[in-house]
Amino acid sequence: MRSIYLKDICKSFDGNIILNNFSLTVPEGKFFALLGPSGCGKTTVLRLIGGFELPDSGTIMLGDENITDLPIYQRKVNTVFQSYALFPHMNVFDNVAYSLKIKKMTPQYIKERVTKVLKAVSLDTHMYRAINQLSGGQQQRVALARAIINEPQVLLLDEPLAALDLKLREQMLIELIDLQETLKTTFVYVTHDQTEALTLADQIAILNHDGEIEQIGTPQQIYEFPISSFVGTFVGKMNLFNGTLSTTGDSLSVHVKGLGGLKVYIGVRKEWMIEGADVIMGIRPEKIWISKEKEPNFPNVMIAKVEAIVYHGPATQYNVRLKDDRIIQVFEQNEEHFPKEKIDYDDQVFLHWRKESALLFER
Ligand code: ATP
Repeated sequence: MRSIYLKDICKSFDGNIILNNFSLTVPEGKFFALLGPSGCGKTTVLRLIGGFELPDSGTIMLGDENITDLPIYQRKVNTVFQSYALFPHMNVFDNVAYSLKIKKMTPQYIKERVTKVLKAVSLDTHMYRAINQLSGGQQQRVALARAIINEPQVLLLDEPLAALDLKLREQMLIELIDLQETLKTTFVYVTHDQTEALTLADQIAILNHDGEIEQIGTPQQIYEFPISSFVGTFVGKMNLFNGTLSTTGDSLSVHVKGLGGLKVYIGVRKEWMIEGADVIMGIRPEKIWISKEKEPNFPNVMIAKVEAIVYHGPATQYNVRLKDDRIIQVFEQNEEHFPKEKIDYDDQVFLHWRKESALLFER
């Protein structure tokens, strides 16, 4: 277990700069997710750590060891890819035992190790099954077992669940968390799926389209306090309003053309939050309270018309049209079997939210 440091990494493919002075620290023993849009360079970062690519410049350290130019097999790093790349003609045991056999370990040692690792991924009862008799989830677990058999200090996972159906993916997410907690190995997990990252990771780094890190934080920090409108809309849903900032005394409000002043509360005032600044106000759909009645005691109330209702099971999504004609989203938890009020298409509703629920971004 050692931390990974990438320092000032530059990497281009065919003259296209993918990473430009990219620096990142992955703390040891953590489940670390790299999340970002397709093509932003996540896999490239992983391949650089694994040694499948070499940087044009910059340094990669594993603890205090400089591994920048080290060949793949000398890095104490292992990788699990989306495609399992198992040996189809070998059974589960032989797939997992393969690298130990190459290293000429004794049969007794191999048996003990493989059994232990297969137990860790709950496949000890399938040890002698043929690979083609396993489900996708089980095959992915064999791939995991094979990757951890050599006790790597770092496990790199490149969208390992992408080929699985939703139910299996959810099950594997829990198993991956358990596995990481048992092994205490540093996991670096690449995904473009925000739910996966929020569920799995101790820490998430969000990359933008330019391959730059927008924000690093715990899932809660990223979701509750996104640093930019990019992060706010990439992780979860967020309604955005462009406006200008008004600062009178201690209170802040954002003036949005056609909607008037929307009150916001900001704990720590940043230097760009000055009178007249161009800003973006963000509000998550679940932070808005929707009702046919206007409720007192909310600093922000807006009238709207229901344009669409989408039932999601635990929650209902309302698409509502505001008086400036824009459509925003509201989520409401479905708590009651017989809700007090039923909201229908075309209903006039009131939207309410607290000033603390709104977020402010620089524009
Ligand atoms: P995705 O989520 O779609 O897998 P990603 O964020 O992992 O995307 P990368 O696979 O790192 O993105 O690719 C970043 C960019 O680098 C892409 O534009 C890709 O086409 C390009 N690229 C990656 N590897 C190579 C390569 N070997 N040769 C040429 N271009 C490459």
